[in-house]
Amino acid sequence: MINKRLEQLTKNNSAIRAMFEEGNRLAEKFGRENVYDYSLGNPCVDSPEMVKDSIIDILSEEKSLNIHGYMPNSGYHFVRETIARNLNKNSKIAYGPNNIIMVVGAAGGLNCILQTLINPGDEIIVVAPFFVEYTNYIENWGGKTVIAQSEDDTFVLSTENIKEKINANTKAIIVNNPNNPTGVVYPEENINDLSQMLLEKEKEYGHPIYIISDEPYRELVYDGRDVPFIPNFYPDTIIVYSWSKSLSLPGERIGYLAIFPEAKDSTLIFNAASISNRIIGFVNAPSLMQRVVERCIECEPRIKEYDQNRKVLYNELTRIGYKCTYPQGAFYLWVKTPCDEEVFVEKAKELHLLLVKGSAFFKKGFVRIAYCVSDDMVVNSIHAFEKLWEAVNH
Ligand code: PLP
Repeated sequence: MINKRLEQLTKNNSAIRAMFEEGNRLAEKFGRENVYDYSLGNPCVDSPEMVKDSIIDILSEEKSLNIHGYMPNSGYHFVRETIARNLNKNSKIAYGPNNIIMVVGAAGGLNCILQTLINPGDEIIVVAPFFVEYTNYIENWGGKTVIAQSEDDTFVLSTENIKEKINANTKAIIVNNPNNPTGVVYPEENINDLSQMLLEKEKEYGHPIYIISDEPYRELVYDGRDVPFIPNFYPDTIIVYSWSKSLSLPGERIGYLAIFPEAKDSTLIFNAASISNRIIGFVNAPSLMQRVVERCIECEPRIKEYDQNRKVLYNELTRIGYKCTYPQGAFYLWVKTPCDEEVFVEKAKELHLLLVKGSAFFKKGFVRIAYCVSDDMVVNSIHAFEKLWEAVNH
């Protein structure tokens, strides 16, 4: 008898992964060029040259043991120093190396911070639609997931809906900006409203309610938009960052946690999350990659290709008649389905279009299109979206 929760998860394997696997099956049968796989948020642009150059330089400059040996669980001190300095460009209060923990991607960071914060019975609020793994991560550590809906139509945070979900057991809220799956960037007023409400609730309940700010898409924004730096609004904030998307390194598993120096119990959180990193089994984030991101800290992500796909898809799909949320960040287009989402996704599959249904993100009646794909695929797929529209409207 294996773990019951995991047994259940093997039955309802992630809808996103299932669609990705379906894509591979269809590609084998009909040829990759005839399948329009929009299922997975796997970056399609190459990592910057500097990543490759840094790997080569590090391997030739450093002694092997310096690169591949054990180290503090929180990561190399000099790497954490560089990251703190980089964050301080945005922050009103200076981060230091002892506010930064190197982690195994955003997924690793989220698990470390959730293990650090959660006691049995604690509740973690998530804002729907949301990255589906949140529920698994929260429940891994014995927490309870509490879902607050975002605002209808705009999908920004609804302070009212979140407020209704807060009670004495609320330990934290996960905020993901720019957002997967909607592509929305929460503006300053939105973050400010949330922060004011949370400050009042902290007073009312007499304990901290942390914001876990999940930011793997922080630099992936369009039209010069700014992503508000949440700790400037709300001190009890822990940032979870990863280079999976910005430097196209999802397989390398590298990111960090940044615990705001003025967050309540920040030193305790730093110490506990470092231990969590160890006992979850990561021990420390990949050592070579820590050195690489330290050298590439100023690297600008390549967003030109995503921006082009974003515009083509949004313009073409709205021309056909679909109702879409105009993406301001990340690389996802959020589309209202003109019929039942299950029917829509199945019909799309018949046309070799692989889309992920909204219920995979806890919001029915939508699909997510991950447009981190080649521009050719986008252009070639438009006729399939046209046929799909006809098929579900006639
Ligand atoms: N959080 C969000 C919102 C994501 O979309 C993803 C990946 O798609 C992650 C976390 C996990 O990122 P990583 O690959 O860095 O673990």
